[in-house]
Amino acid sequence: MQALLESFQKTLHVQFSRMSCQTLYNAIASVDQRNGSLLAELILHCLSLGLESELERLTGQIMIDTLESPVNIFEDICLPTLKLLARKSDEKNNVVQNPIVQRPFQMVLSAFVVQFVRAEPAAPKNWSQPLVPGYCTCKDCIDMNSFLAHPSQQVSRFRMGEGRRRHLESQAAGYGVKCNTDRSGSPHTLVITKTRDLYKKAYLAWKTRRADAKKTFE
Ligand SMILES: [Zn+2]
Repeated sequence: MQALLESFQKTLHVQFSRMSCQTLYNAIASVDQRNGSLLAELILHCLSLGLESELERLTGQIMIDTLESPVNIFEDICLPTLKLLARKSDEKNNVVQNPIVQRPFQMVLSAFVVQFVRAEPAAPKNWSQPLVPGYCTCKDCIDMNSFLAHPSQQVSRFRMGEGRRRHLESQAAGYGVKCNTDRSGSPHTLVITKTRDLYKKAYLAWKTRRADAKKTFE
């Protein structure tokens, strides 16, 4: 029995030192998608067999890799694993309270909040907006970018022929401005008005991510 245990210990030691969390994730996901029971079982077995250093290596690996991993590793593996461990914990065998398990998972949870929810977008302090791509160096784009960068000017008028107006309008699309054409006079005038759309979009996306994270933790 001791020899078997030692051999198992050695195998785990070799496996964990070679295995990245992504590999582990792929291996687990292929047979146990969005369940986490395999990882939870592995942790419970390691604890019951007294394989603490192997467990530390496993949870340490999860922690290190999750800090740089896509959110799906957290959602598909770490959280279901934690939930299962919590369900299987009892007063005698409180796995979640074991520092070997607790420490890395706490770090994983904070990493998830930092990576996924991220900081609340700051409300704009003035009317300076992101510039349109710098690949076009025509005079009209340069003028439009000076207007976009201006901290207090909210509206600008570009009186020019249709082709140039269309060029500016297409360049500005998606950059948080509203374009209207003033048809009085010839040529017509493209009126560009800055909006708070980019901030509103970023804020809404952040609120959604925060709500999703809250749901995930419930
Ligand atoms: Zn241009």
